This record gives sequence, C-alpha cells and structure tokens, in this order.
Amino acid sequence: MKKNSDSCDCDSASCSNHETAGGQPVKQQDENEQMKARMSKIKHKIMVMSGKGGVGKSTVAANIAVAMAMEGKSVGLLDVDFHGPSIPKLLHLEGQLLTGSEDGMQPVDYVHGIKVMSLGFMLGNQDSAVIWRGPLKIGVIKQLLTDVSWGELDYLIIDFPPGTGDEPLSVAQFLPDADGAVIVTTPQDLSLSDVRKSIDFCRKLNMKIIGVIENMSGMVCPHCGNVVDVFKKGGGQTMAGEMGVPFLGRIPLDPRIVTASDDGVPFVYHFNETEAAKAFSEAVLPILMLEEQGGSVTVNPVNLKPKESDMKSIKIAIPVEGGRLCAHFGHCETFVLVDVDTETKKIIKKEELPPPPHEPGLLPHWLHEKGANMIIAGGMGSRAQGLFAENGIQVLVGASSDAPEALVKNYLDGALVTGDNVCDH
Ligand code: ADP
Repeated sequence: MKKNSDSCDCDSASCSNHETAGGQPVKQQDENEQMKARMSKIKHKIMVMSGKGGVGKSTVAANIAVAMAMEGKSVGLLDVDFHGPSIPKLLHLEGQLLTGSEDGMQPVDYVHGIKVMSLGFMLGNQDSAVIWRGPLKIGVIKQLLTDVSWGELDYLIIDFPPGTGDEPLSVAQFLPDADGAVIVTTPQDLSLSDVRKSIDFCRKLNMKIIGVIENMSGMVCPHCGNVVDVFKKGGGQTMAGEMGVPFLGRIPLDPRIVTASDDGVPFVYHFNETEAAKAFSEAVLPILMLEEQGGSVTVNPVNLKPKESDMKSIKIAIPVEGGRLCAHFGHCETFVLVDVDTETKKIIKKEELPPPPHEPGLLPHWLHEKGANMIIAGGMGSRAQGLFAENGIQVLVGASSDAPEALVKNYLDGALVTGDNVCDH
C-alpha cells in the first residue's frame, strides 16, 4: 500500500521525506521553497505585538489594516493568536468556513479588499480551550505562511498573542525579511514594563522596531468631547524615547471603538472624523512610507521627541568623517553635537568634539555626559543601541552620508530618511 508522505514514519533512506539535499529533508526543503515563493509576493510584512493582553493590539492591527486599505493598498491580516484569536470577532467574521483551491487555503474577504486569515476560523468553538505545545504552534504557523493563498499584497499585518513566545519568534525566523514590529502599549507603568521586553526581544532578533503606539491614551468624553487621562498619558512616548525607538502616536480611549468592534464595523472608516481615527491614520504614515521608499522609514520629529520635558530643545550627536556622516560609528573623526529648538525648528548651537578613546561601553556615557539625547547614525549594532537607550539616548540608524546640518534640517522638517542599518557589529 502506498504511504501518505505527510504521515510518513518509515526509516527508509530512499523515502522522499528522508532524503536530504543541503542537509534538509526534501519535503521540508520543498515547503521552505513554497513559503519563500508565497511570501515573496508580499512586499511588506508588519508584526503587531504587545507586552501584555487587553491593550488593544488586535484592535490596532485591524485598524492599521483598514487605514492602509483606505489608502489604496492591498492588505492581508493574519491572526496567529492561538489562545484568543479576536480578529474574527472584531471584524464580524465569526463562523466563516474556510475554502481551499488548487493554490491553497483561501483567506476570507473583508471590506476594502482586505484578506483575512485567523486561527479563529479553524478552531471552531471559541469558548473551548485548546492546549497547544510549542512545536505544534510552530508547525501551524509555518503551514499558514506556506499554504494561505494571499496572492500579491502590498502589506501583510500579522497580529500576535501578547508577549514574546513561540509565535513572534517563529514568524521572525520564518520571515527574516519582515519590515519590523509595531508595538502596542497603554500608558500605565505595568503595561510599559512589559513592552520593554517586547522591544528587547525585537532587538535580540535584529527585528526593526517601526514604532510604539500608545493606545487608550486619555479618553474622549462622550458628552463634552474633552479628553480625560484615565490611565495616565504619555508613558508610551516617554518609554519610546528612553528605549530609543520611534513613537507612532496616541490613540485615545473612545467608547465608539468598543461599539464598532462589537458590531464588527471598521472603526477608522465609519468614524473617520474622530480623534482616534485620525490618530490611527497618522500612526500608519511611517508604515505607508515603507512602500514609497522601498523599505526605509521617514522619521517624524514630532513622534521622536525623546521626553516631554525635553521637547523644547534636544541635542543631536552625529559621527562625522570628512565633514559628512560616518557610517562606521565607533571610528569617526569627530562628533558633531547640534542643539536644536524643536518649536522654532532652528539650530541653536553646533560644536565639534573629538571622540573619547575607543573603549567598550565608553561612548554611551560620554555622549550622555555631553547632554546628547539623540544620535543620527549610518549603522550601529543592536547591542550598542540598547546601551545608548539605557543612557536615555535615542538612536536613528540608516541615515545617509550627508553633512550634519543637512541631516538635522531633514530631521526637523520630518524628511529624514532612515534605511537599512548598514553596520551591525
Ligand atoms: P488585545 O488584542 O491587546 O488583547 P483587543 O484589541 O482585543 O486587545 O481590545 C480589547 C478591548 O478593548 C476590545 O473590546 C476593544 O474594543 C477595546 N479597545 C481597544 N482599543 C480601544 C480604544 N482606543 N478605545 C476604546 N476601546 C478600545
């Protein structure tokens, strides 16, 4: 009798499951090729993560998807939350039956042409608990990335369960070309301490952090329209500054988000005049820029001010060689330190300093002592970025080799383009 290769458990060296080519079983190699081919049709892959549950991560992922589709982008939304896939509920797509075609599993159609795939479509009864072991989760995620027939997409938004478990880890490993992560937090300290772990996790995996969104940031009063700071405000922005990652914006608590979610209505579309919808639309701008600039991110100075208390003036340090930004951060000729007034968008002072001796760990302290709170660099390893972040210095990597004044001016005009981290050691 012919054995089904999917369930093969033989030890035959001639079985196609066991033959190796380049050290991998043939079947596994084929799947990897298929996943690669499938994913190569998707221009940008964005991971949406949070440190803890209930901060509105799935709501943000769904609204990012809708906001981008409203901009004419072709968008897919993949929900890999094994323990509480809420995307079907948020979009009113519960009970959808999945269909297959020759090309693979068909995602479910949502408004504005958004294609949706969720583990919720496969798990049946939402109220029953399924116990998943790590390797099984990884296998299912791989199958989703390999078998779902997304077709050509501009963006795939991937919604993860909270935390830094198997799901984001395996996607980061399966999709090394993912554009990066959007991290959702609420302003309270408890949520912020968890989100630091998410940032650290991305850094360890060399996953770019597109930015932090502070959700439930103040509440729009349904009666007077004023904003009340229920869970404090600005914590996400301050934390982003301290950790040296871009801040994408604040989404206020708005009761209409809950009603829209419960009714499965796309909030950003139906309530596009609200503060919260506008905040969503602004938060997606850096993600939309990925498309315009082939993978690089334009940095918005308003979003990147390190701390509210420092907003009026910031000191930007730039490593320079021959009058231009030096890509090799640790071996520059001089550091140019530029004081800028972020309100008038003017350079107030510029000084040039020779770098300190090249000793491990010295530069972050030295630049901190000189008062720097931001660095514009060509490239820098993620470990070094972490050390600067610990010293309250935000690092923007991937800037081009221009004169320091031009870089600062671009930054102040919101036109600084950061691309790949050209040096990561
Ligand atoms: P998570 O994915 O982080 O667990 P969800 O996206 O499922 O969180 O959101 C949890 C609940 O909070 C949902 O009922 C959602 O409608 C609500 N919610 C999320 N963001 C907001 C907001 N900005 N204003 C009001 N309610 C919100």
